[in-house]
Amino acid sequence: MISKINSETRLYGVIGDRVEHSFSPLMHNAAFQFHGINSVYLTLQVKSHGLEDAIKGIKSMGILGVNVTIPHKISIMKYLDEIDSNAKNIGAVNTVINKNGRLIGYNTDGAGALEALKMGNGNPAGKKVILLGAGGAARAISFSIAPVVSRLVVLNRTRSKATYLVKAIKKRLNIEIVGEELTTSNLSRELTDTEVLINTTSVGMFPKIEETLVDRNIIKSHMVVFDIIYNPPETRLLREATASGAKVINGINMLVNQGALSFKLWVGLKPPIDIMLKAIKRELRE
Ligand code: NAP
Repeated sequence: MISKINSETRLYGVIGDRVEHSFSPLMHNAAFQFHGINSVYLTLQVKSHGLEDAIKGIKSMGILGVNVTIPHKISIMKYLDEIDSNAKNIGAVNTVINKNGRLIGYNTDGAGALEALKMGNGNPAGKKVILLGAGGAARAISFSIAPVVSRLVVLNRTRSKATYLVKAIKKRLNIEIVGEELTTSNLSRELTDTEVLINTTSVGMFPKIEETLVDRNIIKSHMVVFDIIYNPPETRLLREATASGAKVINGINMLVNQGALSFKLWVGLKPPIDIMLKAIKRELRE
């Protein structure tokens, strides 16, 4: 946040229902301050029935950009003037730019996850990857990593959703990908020759922080284990993966990288990732 708010200060924000605990204002205001940009970023609480009016408000009040979170990532698409091809493939938008009154939707979740993997020395290029889950985040991540991995295995509690996701990816990319039900036997069989395991389910998230889908005995030290949950930053899965000697990457890294990509889209400047990460870590310590 800039030190002095005046008549030229411009507004950005995150729209969603229950955004009061969002980390996004912390990281984006730290980034605005770093670059000396006269803008502020706020949480903008919007219920589903108020979404259409909120979109009109973005245009009429000249809000320059918003992030979009649960439950509006899909429903917002019908109100936008343009959607980029990546967000169209994913079928969800998490970033909107207001370009002279035209609202354009993007999705930075998948690219943010790929950046988090690279930053954590877990680049999935040329590797076999298992993705646990087939929800919104899984869809965004699969479209980003599918073009670079050697084989992608999607395991989901509801098998039909895994199959649906695999079909959507196969339609656009010629890659080795399978979707199966998430069972103990499927997971341990597929894990034997897997280098990167990504949890995109909500299992292990606050308040049920002692839940995990992966038996600690099947995690091996050569693996990279990435859990996109950021509350808590160290899930039980990551704690047990660390104990097994695996390399771990947490959801805060994805959160910051997807935010950094949104920031770049809005202001066109290099996002100060370290500063954005520090702003969140400071809050987590307090
Ligand atoms: P979503 O669309 O609701 O998908 C949830 C997924 O979790 C589904 O695949 C669901 O399986 C699975 N799941 C839920 N409970 C389960 C259980 N008890 N056992 C097995 N599988 C279960 O949610 P989402 O938007 O993808 O978000 C998922 C998680 O990612 C959340 O914790 C969210 O906070 C986190 N996230 C993090 C970031 C970041 O920047 N770090 C970004 C986006 C999301 P079914 O299909 O069988 O229901």
